[in-house]
Amino acid sequence: MRGVAFVLLITFLFCGCGSSSTANGENTLGAANSSPNTTDSQNSDSPTSSPLTTFEAAISDHEDFQNQEPDSDSNEKNASKEIATSLVTESAKDSNFEAGALVPGVTFLNLSGILTTDLEQWAEVAENKMASQNARVLTVLYNIGGNLGPEDPDRFAGFPFTPNEVLLTKRQIDDLMAGIEDWLRSDPCMGHIEQRNHLRNELRQYRVWLEEGADTSTQRALCEETRFVMMAFESGGPIWDLQRFLVHELYHAFQQDLEGDCNETIDRRGRGDHVPVVVEGAAEYFTFFTAGELYNDPDPVSTMLKEAKTATTLDQSDDVMGSGMATRAAALVRLMIERGQLDHQSIIDGSFFHNCQRSKLDGSNPEFLYAMDNWNQIKREGTEWKFTASALAGNP
Ligand SMILES: [Zn+2]
Repeated sequence: MRGVAFVLLITFLFCGCGSSSTANGENTLGAANSSPNTTDSQNSDSPTSSPLTTFEAAISDHEDFQNQEPDSDSNEKNASKEIATSLVTESAKDSNFEAGALVPGVTFLNLSGILTTDLEQWAEVAENKMASQNARVLTVLYNIGGNLGPEDPDRFAGFPFTPNEVLLTKRQIDDLMAGIEDWLRSDPCMGHIEQRNHLRNELRQYRVWLEEGADTSTQRALCEETRFVMMAFESGGPIWDLQRFLVHELYHAFQQDLEGDCNETIDRRGRGDHVPVVVEGAAEYFTFFTAGELYNDPDPVSTMLKEAKTATTLDQSDDVMGSGMATRAAALVRLMIERGQLDHQSIIDGSFFHNCQRSKLDGSNPEFLYAMDNWNQIKREGTEWKFTASALAGNP
């Protein structure tokens, strides 16, 4: 159902800066240093978050990356300042609304140096994969500077973000917060009076994240069909890395059963590592294929399995919850697919998350347990990375 799979190409005008700022103003602001965003914070149940909160980070060290942004040492800070004035205008209400209501689609509030039109194009590719897409998604992007310390949940309302140099000005943060609040108040769910405290708490968190330079990489399922994505990254990283980051987070926004009754079903069955493994694994599986399509990866399965196997050598752990958990979990999903236990297309088109099928992948499922134990049985044959024959043929 591609009919609703469109991207709302909106930007908000925040500043009263009066310049002839345009949506395209961002593209002169590209790269500074080129350290990729390699945070690897993983899922944890935040005390203040809904069960579907997901924390991820962009993946690094893809050796086949292309389209790397030009290396330039030039003035990141100036870039940040300029971005402020290029944040586009007009109220979202003109284009974001149909008959007075927000409609499904992805809206960007983009304070990063990446062109909004590029983000929209990548989002559209991801959204067009979905069998149906009913979520209203607000996606906020901004740049951060150098890291200032380890993950600090106390500082970030329970979220495992790291503090980093803040590049946004106070004015930019205020304008961004106003744009977020405006959008959320316009949302049929979050704008409802019953959500008033929920809205207030969310906004309070977002401001802290912005003001403290959090390396946010999170999707918030605020309501079943209202999703909020916040992504922070250093400028100058490779484009493929950002494509993965965005596609991964948007897939979470498209996972329809992350909020609502499915969580009660999962609560009854019992929570554990299997819950984030399934949610993250599917998102990352989708990402290898879909972002891989954007950066022309001819063999996303081999890339996925290679990165999963490589992760195990970095921390000497074959636990799916080890470093780079989402990539390991994607390999687990792939193993179940190759063993005929999951349907590739239902992951790619998101329909696996339409009716809580994910609740069946837990400790009571022998095939899932088998995949938990054997996802790492990966070998290299020539240039191709694949599962071993015994992993594919073994009995659970
Ligand atoms: Zn994720």
